[in-house]
Amino acid sequence: MSRRPVAQIDLLALQQNLQRVKQLAPDSQVLAVLKANAYGHGLVKVAQKLTAADAFAVARIDEALALRTAGIVKPIVLLEGFYEAAELPLLLANNLQTIVHNELQLQALEQTPLEGQLKVWLKIDTGMHRLGIDPAEVDNVYRRLWQCSNVLPGIRLMSHFSCADELDSATTSKQLALFQQLCADKAEQHSLANSAAILAWPATHGQWVRPGLMLHGISPFVGKQGADHQLQPVMRLSSRLIAIRKVKAGDTVGYAGLWRAKTDTFIGVIAVGYGDGYPRHAANGTPVWLNGREVPLAGRVSMDMITVDLGHFCKDKIGDEAVLWGPELAIERVAAQAETIAYELLCNITPRVQYQYL
Ligand code: PLP
Repeated sequence: MSRRPVAQIDLLALQQNLQRVKQLAPDSQVLAVLKANAYGHGLVKVAQKLTAADAFAVARIDEALALRTAGIVKPIVLLEGFYEAAELPLLLANNLQTIVHNELQLQALEQTPLEGQLKVWLKIDTGMHRLGIDPAEVDNVYRRLWQCSNVLPGIRLMSHFSCADELDSATTSKQLALFQQLCADKAEQHSLANSAAILAWPATHGQWVRPGLMLHGISPFVGKQGADHQLQPVMRLSSRLIAIRKVKAGDTVGYAGLWRAKTDTFIGVIAVGYGDGYPRHAANGTPVWLNGREVPLAGRVSMDMITVDLGHFCKDKIGDEAVLWGPELAIERVAAQAETIAYELLCNITPRVQYQYL
């Protein structure tokens, strides 16, 4: 039996989560965000299953080209846009849509001779202050894009929220109001909503919603889980018990002896560590699902192993399956214990983990 950690990917759950997006935003088209290897779930496999999405978004050109090489023909939007004029023919040849968020991109579009026209999304900075055209420049940039012969008519308008996951913050309302004001005289299609906004800010839905995290069954809100939004976990990360040892009250376990047994107990060693993507900063007590109950992490996470407290009356056996996160154990809980977010746990999974698609 393999002792390698396994990430099972439930593609039916993925499809059902997309249906949930459509239920929440029935008048919007869905631009499914598949960057970073589809949040660690496998870019091509996920894209192949999301046939009901209207388009895909990735961060970078190589992600888009990987989709095209795999035969994906749906529209693809580059969320970072292109970086230099020399890439424009590649975008055209692969039918990639680009975001325009800065003056250099605009100039490249204006000055590069192209044999065809590109679909462009104008990204407006409404308060995130990361990518986007300054509000004072939007009308000018919009006019120049309209006049640019390399740009297809029907420029789409978009922005990104900085705090949509904070339900009591006024920032999202302010960003929405600014976006609406800047777009009031422009008839084009709009896109604003990430997962948090799809779930909590219906006024932001517009013509295109951009779900990422929620497609994988995970909640973007602190203290909530996917199930709270009728989402189903897509990934189940598991491994196996490879050793069981008895320790006495007072014994410490693992590097730096950070965990000390209060009573005599059994320690289980599970073949997963930060070398597989399990978070090194998961605190003592982080739950692991084993034989129908939760057992707590006991000691520091190593590169290849974690140690858990199996208790005094241990019936577990070497070879038993342990679930690190999945339907049995919400990834949001593990992320909280590691003082991080589920996004990071998913992106950190390494090639040592074996993927199984169900
Ligand atoms: N839109 C943009 C521009 C993004 O950068 C992201 C992800 O960070 C998303 C949408 C999707 O966000 P989420 O995964 O929170 O749904």
